Amino acid sequence: MSIVLSRQQIEYFGIPIEYELTIKKVKNLNVRINEEGKIFVSANKNISNEQIKSFLESKAEWIIQKMAELERYNAQKPDNEIYTGKRLYFLGKAYSAVVEEGNRNFVEKTDDTIIITVLSGYDSEKIKKVYKKWLISQCEVIFKTVVDNVYSMVREENIPLPEIHIRNMKTRWGSCKVSSDLITLNMQLIKTDIKCIEQVVLHELIHFIVPNHSQNFYYYLNKYMPDWKERKQAMEEKYKDGIF
Ligand SMILES: [Zn+2]
Repeated sequence: MSIVLSRQQIEYFGIPIEYELTIKKVKNLNVRINEEGKIFVSANKNISNEQIKSFLESKAEWIIQKMAELERYNAQKPDNEIYTGKRLYFLGKAYSAVVEEGNRNFVEKTDDTIIITVLSGYDSEKIKKVYKKWLISQCEVIFKTVVDNVYSMVREENIPLPEIHIRNMKTRWGSCKVSSDLITLNMQLIKTDIKCIEQVVLHELIHFIVPNHSQNFYYYLNKYMPDWKERKQAMEEKYKDGIF
């Protein structure tokens, strides 16, 4: 059990440090900064506000330095290489890549890392090839599940259950070919979260009812997913890691 108290703030030599405080079963006090530069503090219920504030003051130098690093990182356009420490997105979450040499090519995902093991040599193209193969295998399973789920939402519209193709596309998230009962989904979608993927799938499925983007099309989109706009926006703004 945890309780989010609220947003709080301390000032360190005139620099405001805003944080979100959560009371939960931790030993003492923890501070964490996420990749967007949000600061999270967790404390157990016996720790006073004063103790929290002085703890944060003692950590302020570190926090300010970390925030500056993040700002620099986020200002850069992500490069298109995979190396140890590179940020990769998978289902809406950021992971840190670990590239290793081993006796076979494979990819393993842990809580916060994606470990890419390649046979002999850190060849950039080879690393990407191994990662791409793994990503596509994940797409095949996950996209199928999402299509099945979204399809069941709109089943009453008498849409055929489409076949799914997966491609790496530069300019669109998805497309559909009504005459062939086919939808094509961009492999890049696997970097976004499930809600974003659902939004794209629903968009394509509705084209089986309304082929263009007329008012009627948006009537159906709003009917089945009133928050489609927010989902679309999240997809355009986040989850870019520059790979493929
Ligand atoms: Zn469309």
